[in-house]
Amino acid sequence: MHRAGMGTPMSETIDRAISSAQAAPRLLQELRETLQRLRLGGPFYVLLWLLAGVAADLWLRAPVAFTLIGVCFGGLTVMRFRIRGLPDDSDENAVRGRLDFIWALLLVNAGVWGAAAAWLLLAAPEESARTVAAISSYAFATAFAHNFPMRLRHAFAAVFLIYLPTLIALVASGARYELIGVSALYLLYVSLALRRSHAEYLQRLDLEDELREQRDLFQQQSRRDGLTGLANRRRFSSALEDWSMQARTHGTPLSLLILDLDHFKAINDQHGHARGDACLREFADRLQASFAGSEELVARLGGEEFGVLLRGMSRRQAFDRAEGFRAGLAEAAIGACNGASVQLRVSVGVAAFEPHLHHDADALYHAADTALYAAKGSGRNTVMQADP
Ligand code: GH3
Ligand code: MG
Ligand code: MG
Repeated sequence: MHRAGMGTPMSETIDRAISSAQAAPRLLQELRETLQRLRLGGPFYVLLWLLAGVAADLWLRAPVAFTLIGVCFGGLTVMRFRIRGLPDDSDENAVRGRLDFIWALLLVNAGVWGAAAAWLLLAAPEESARTVAAISSYAFATAFAHNFPMRLRHAFAAVFLIYLPTLIALVASGARYELIGVSALYLLYVSLALRRSHAEYLQRLDLEDELREQRDLFQQQSRRDGLTGLANRRRFSSALEDWSMQARTHGTPLSLLILDLDHFKAINDQHGHARGDACLREFADRLQASFAGSEELVARLGGEEFGVLLRGMSRRQAFDRAEGFRAGLAEAAIGACNGASVQLRVSVGVAAFEPHLHHDADALYHAADTALYAAKGSGRNTVMQADP
């Protein structure tokens, strides 16, 4: 992705537009966790079916049904392993579709087990086979309640699909009432456990959302200047590096303006530091308004020094834009510096990236800084260009 950190207002708008179609992080997390757990279960259904079937001599009694059900569990297991995750930039519908498919698979799996276990309980007189089938149903229902709390209703449906047929078959096959009572109580426990793990799952997602938001906020703050709200030096340097690289490799024109307020110390001395701060904010607003294009980045480099990057513009155009800004500032007294009408003036150094002159971003910066120094030397309130 295009570095959001370097984003100009236009690219930030585009980023936001893209993210509205993109799946939310918590939906992607749901998919990741569901997938992880999906792979665990499959082989156990195959194994326990074989165990119960062999104990009940199903292999001799009903070989076709026994094999078909075994193949069904085998196929479901293979499908569980074949389902893949989706990239983080997938859109919401794709992620929801994938999750719906997984849940359909899980519900089919639960239903097949419930029916198979009930059939075995009704058809097999052997105590060991009945015990294996019943215990397996309890275990699968318990595992489900703990592993798939993401969607409460789906998970309840799966637990009941696994468990209820077993319970009904126990009753129908004349199991002892203690066993039926314990089984019913255990179903109650599994239901309560599922509700609790669902609540805990939601709480965890909320917490992770909060952490993500805080991280994003910190990241944003670490790239902004606290006084003016402009990009800070760190963000500026990083953009300068990236854009210089693009200027070098793709030939995209790049110009750099370094602006330094004239005699700002005197303004502080005369009006006080608080008014000085207000002037800096006012100046920053003017600068941002003048260079608000999608290929323009404005930053406070420190103190009363500012930088502007202009992409896709000729050296001449960049110079004219700088000159226009300087002249506009010199004409207008800035009135909002905490009520005081203060006349700000600025000196500007301009340099355009020249592949044969500038090896890297530092060289471009140095050229603009030298031009700024010359502007100060020539009496201030002026724009100077670096030698081409
Ligand atoms: P020059 O025309 O040569 O640039 O003169 P100058 O007085 O602007 O330059 P100098 O670098 O000597 O002084 C910059 C002054 O900017 C010093 C400091 O008082 C002031 N300054 C730097 N950062 C801040 C700030 O965050 N708030 C305020 N109010 N003043 C600041
Ligand atoms: Mg200054
Ligand atoms: Mg300075």
